Amino acid sequence: MPGQPTILGTQLAHLSGACKGFVTAGWDFVFPPACVACGGELAAPRSDSTCQICAECRQKLSVHALHPSCLRCGAPVGPYVDRQRGCQECRREPFAFKTVYRLGIYQESAIKESVLRGKYIGGQPLLTSLAELIWEYAGHEMQAAQIDLVVPIPQHWRQRMFSRHHAPDVLAEAWGRRLQVPVGYPILAKVRKTQKQAHLSRTERHKNQHQVFRVTRPAMVKGKTILLVDDVLTTGATAHSAAKALRGNGAKLVVVAVIARVLGQR
Ligand SMILES: [Zn+2]
Ligand SMILES: [Zn+2]
Repeated sequence: MPGQPTILGTQLAHLSGACKGFVTAGWDFVFPPACVACGGELAAPRSDSTCQICAECRQKLSVHALHPSCLRCGAPVGPYVDRQRGCQECRREPFAFKTVYRLGIYQESAIKESVLRGKYIGGQPLLTSLAELIWEYAGHEMQAAQIDLVVPIPQHWRQRMFSRHHAPDVLAEAWGRRLQVPVGYPILAKVRKTQKQAHLSRTERHKNQHQVFRVTRPAMVKGKTILLVDDVLTTGATAHSAAKALRGNGAKLVVVAVIARVLGQR
């Protein structure tokens, strides 16, 4: 009957599957899978995860992942802080986004090294695995947020010309796949270059980020809950400016996901 697999076809399919398994096992024997963070040997990864990070690196990267954090900005907080109201890192900031999901604190050496290596050439597999690791910790919250669209913080077109990959794009692709929602670009555009934020005062930072993003397709953000993605959240001024542009064009809610939160930049 047309469309029905024949016995010979089924046997060949089984044989092909067995061959593939044999080839993969052989390949892994010759080139054992390596941890994308340290290059060390990787024990068998979890079947439900594509995170290629070894147990030792996971431990170093996840120090703050399960500790209580401020729901507004992702900074670690003590057990008695009202996490909804914000912490000393963010209480003065009128953020246009609701919450921040993150893996760690930038000041931890393992996190900082990973963020920096993720930006370099060949950093994509590390970024994808970091996104997977964050999904293991925050995936259920991201799913509960009922996100419709993932939007990476964009680069200015002149920066884009000189970079091979943009870390927020790689993270956004990984979370878009997990959430099974579209990744939107170009939806947000960076209309001018900005100065580095680290040495600017709070007022200068807000001026630096003022109206720096423009929504290029307003119809796509209207009424949507958006996951805004960056690699780090320093003061929150960049994410605030981008979230403000999205909200100004009708987005219902903006939540943020990053690898790391930088502390002490108030
Ligand atoms: Zn490792
Ligand atoms: Zn906070």
